Amino acid sequence: MKALRLHAAHTLRLHEEPIPEPQAGEVLLRVTAVGICGSDIHWYEEGGIGDARLSHPLVLGHEFAAEIAEGPLRGTRVAVDPAISCGQCEWCQQGHPNLCPHTRFSGHGSQDGALREYMPWRTENLHAVPDTIDDISAAMLEPLGVAIHSVDLAHLRPGAHVGVIGCGPIGLLTLQVARLAGAVRLFATDCLPHRLEAAHALCAAEVHQADLEHREEARAILAATKGRGLDVVFECAGDQRAVDTAFDVVRIGGIVILCGVPSDDRTAFVASLARRKGLTIKLVRRMKHTYPRAIEMVSRRFVNVSDLVTHRFPLCEAERAFAVAQHREGIKAVVIP
Ligand SMILES: [Zn+2]
Ligand SMILES: [Zn+2]
Repeated sequence: MKALRLHAAHTLRLHEEPIPEPQAGEVLLRVTAVGICGSDIHWYEEGGIGDARLSHPLVLGHEFAAEIAEGPLRGTRVAVDPAISCGQCEWCQQGHPNLCPHTRFSGHGSQDGALREYMPWRTENLHAVPDTIDDISAAMLEPLGVAIHSVDLAHLRPGAHVGVIGCGPIGLLTLQVARLAGAVRLFATDCLPHRLEAAHALCAAEVHQADLEHREEARAILAATKGRGLDVVFECAGDQRAVDTAFDVVRIGGIVILCGVPSDDRTAFVASLARRKGLTIKLVRRMKHTYPRAIEMVSRRFVNVSDLVTHRFPLCEAERAFAVAQHREGIKAVVIP
């Protein structure tokens, strides 16, 4: 089979390899679609993410769909939860598998991911998808899960006014889930006009182009809310200016949810501003208990994931998918192994 490995920053190589053997509790999957994520771009550009570094030539890929390739369930189409938590530790036992420090995560650290034709994965992490969800949309259930978890953390109330700073795939999914959770007014910012167009088209968000120098968008949002600000703001850019905008536009007593992953592994905010507003600040660690909801949201057409997929490439052209994601062309690039 073919597998794409990251040898060093900017160095991807396609290899011919034997099909791996599943271990106990695992089943062999034939991978059908893999989304390229901002975190994959951190690996690709920096040879790591946060404090994790390349330990061997790594197969990236954690947003994926597959078909079971062996055994009694052969042919079943599945969405795949990329995080295998230990199930034993205090955090797992208390219902927070996303916080498990022993997690094996697909395409991260020493765990090879999905940019290959076949891979074994734990059976418990597979979620059968109905025929109403195609393979590419099934791969989008992973980032949708992150958006659902972010909205869960916000405890959104019906009628809320919500901001999303950064309209990449996670931002665009968060907007849709926030609307589904009862937000009646959505504000969206991004540097890129095509992403703002998507935010407006997908959920009628009031869009403001991010002005990197003066952050005019923060003033514009405050003016649009008569100075009150927004109940909940999701920072989905992983950029310090986006964090600053989020803290500026959130209302007194509001909630800021930090979803983005900063390249320099630091997040800062103006302490006096945050204190004066009495803000609640939450950080998003992956997701938990989201797949059944994500599947229903997509199959019942409450959330549109397919319009986010703007580029498709075969595995032999996967490097082009990384280039598209790196340069923020379109919205989501997907590789079909
Ligand atoms: Zn991701
Ligand atoms: Zn655990």
